[in-house]
Amino acid sequence: MQPSELIWMNGDLVAWDDAKVHVLTHGLHYGTGVFEGIRAHDTELGTAVFRLSDHLERLRRSAELYYMPLPYSQEELRGVIHEVIARNGLTEAYIRPLVFRGYGQMGLFPLEAPVDVTVAAWKWAPYLGADSMTRGVRGKVSSWRRIPSDSLIPHAKACGQYLNNVLAKIESHKAGYEEAILLDAHGNVSEGSGENIFIVRDGVIATPGQSSGILEGINRRSVIEVARDLGHEVVERDVARAELYLADEVFVTGTATLQPVPVREVDDHPVGDGKRGPVTCELQSVYEDVLAGRAERYRDWLDVVKVPETA
Ligand code: PMP
Repeated sequence: MQPSELIWMNGDLVAWDDAKVHVLTHGLHYGTGVFEGIRAHDTELGTAVFRLSDHLERLRRSAELYYMPLPYSQEELRGVIHEVIARNGLTEAYIRPLVFRGYGQMGLFPLEAPVDVTVAAWKWAPYLGADSMTRGVRGKVSSWRRIPSDSLIPHAKACGQYLNNVLAKIESHKAGYEEAILLDAHGNVSEGSGENIFIVRDGVIATPGQSSGILEGINRRSVIEVARDLGHEVVERDVARAELYLADEVFVTGTATLQPVPVREVDDHPVGDGKRGPVTCELQSVYEDVLAGRAERYRDWLDVVKVPETA
């Protein structure tokens, strides 16, 4: 990874190498933390964070779902994120806020352990590779099912839950694929290891709905809005496994991947003609404009970083 200089920890900016925790940190043992993955882009308006208030709202909700009171307001965290980007001299960044049960109490009852908050930001290349946007990736349906909503909380972006995604990712990697696609508890399509998934069939865009074990992605929401604005029909519905093979196009969306990324093959079946499809291409091109600050219509999705007085 590409370290930056400073990380924010519970109110202070500390040197990257000094951002450490005790080995008896609760979250390290039991996964009791929630986090966000956010990106800032080098736009025509200056460095700007994509949909920051939506990410912070999801962070607050994830924390609440695990009974963790956030010790900072949304506005305070927004200021912290601006400061971390500015003080590290970053013009584009991946931003990782983390809220976790800290040191002081062990055992499964965590409500007396402190709630710690950190924010790191660094330069991070697109998760599925720099050329994934044009070439597309090969996906494999995982033997691991997405966590069911009666065991954990798919809607929360919670640390311990990611063991499920890690297993799926390792499995797909070892089998020679670039991404894992997880089915939900009922055998319908849920999502990728770190992305939401869409199919295009007979001119209609479909994506698994709220009860398919998805994390409700900020990019999922954005792509649905952009696609509808472009005149496409978008439906949230159950998606059967075979539809991944029968679709004209499949693509995934997520902060880490940067843009909608085409899936050119699933389980060794070519999707459509095995190349990036026209709908994916169209959505990518609007996305590129949005993230470059050129799309007036989506201007309020960008939160331009203000350099704090102290910087
Ligand atoms: N699903 C999972 C499991 C994820 O980790 C992510 C990344 N946060 C997503 C979907 C996509 O969410 P977003 O568009 O908000 O990055």
